Amino acid sequence: MSFMVNRVLIIGLGLIGGSLAKALKNKRFARVIAGYDRNSDDLQQGLDLEIIDEAVSDLTTAVSTADIIVLAVPVKATEAVLSAIKPYLNVNTVITDAGSTKANVIQAAQKVFGSVPVNFIPGHPIAGSEKSGVASSDEKLFVKHKVILTPLAESNKSATRLIARMWQSTGAEVLQMGVERHDEVLAATSHLPHILAFSLVDTLAKEQDSTDIFRYAAGGFRDFTRIAASDPTMWHDVCIANKQELINQIDNFTDGLAVLRQAIVTSDSQSMLGIFTRAKSAREHFN
Ligand code: NAD
Repeated sequence: MSFMVNRVLIIGLGLIGGSLAKALKNKRFARVIAGYDRNSDDLQQGLDLEIIDEAVSDLTTAVSTADIIVLAVPVKATEAVLSAIKPYLNVNTVITDAGSTKANVIQAAQKVFGSVPVNFIPGHPIAGSEKSGVASSDEKLFVKHKVILTPLAESNKSATRLIARMWQSTGAEVLQMGVERHDEVLAATSHLPHILAFSLVDTLAKEQDSTDIFRYAAGGFRDFTRIAASDPTMWHDVCIANKQELINQIDNFTDGLAVLRQAIVTSDSQSMLGIFTRAKSAREHFN
């Protein structure tokens, strides 16, 4: 049975936290959407843009009265934020997060609480953009996008349902996955492509005539490298947090690229056409 949520506290009012706040406010998911950010300018902006109902400056009351607390901070900050809220946490409060990696978030919770609280339901919205900051908030960011929840076996089922309901209210499709599977899949579909885009643009930018090269870049280059404009700190944190899975994917990709390189060196049309045809067909099967 669903009940009206009284207070949601979003910690980290950047692109994801701000977009979630905006969407929840629009859908009247809770009576009050409160925001907290270590950057007071972001918080004030959130208030000015009416993204949040309340700007929280002191976590004491805001944490103890929240029904749901959402961590939307860079994944490396998870442990510090959980430590900061722990003294004021109400036993019934449901906590979730939006971090792009999940095993390290679970480890942070274990470290702070001894074991992962049953009301802590890790999550990851598979939506975003290369933009960051509260000014880029978009209430439609999650519409028709997937949100992956990675509850543990001992997680409270009604807490999981509540967080699923919260994301569904933003227009997202919610699904569940194991923590390890999440980090493996996302290393392949999100983390590796970001690393490739950063690396390609950096490699080309280091060339002496890079300004000239970029001048001639067309749609393909733009499509492929858009995500190289993403936030460096966020992606630094993701690489550290999901190091092993990402290295596996980089190695896998490097092997594939070496095969393609060899086909080009030897003008092996059959191999090249095989790779391109398989890739084209695979790419056309998802949208
Ligand atoms: P962002 O940089 O836009 O916002 C992060 C906010 O957290 C900033 O306002 C910052 O001031 C605040 N912050 C940082 N440390 C803090 C602390 N210790 N206490 C309080 N506030 C703190 O980043 P974002 O893109 O919104 O990402 C937030 C989370 O969502 C990250 O964990 C990221 O992995 C995840 N995520 C991002 C995307 C994306 O495309 N940007 C997509 C899915 C998930």
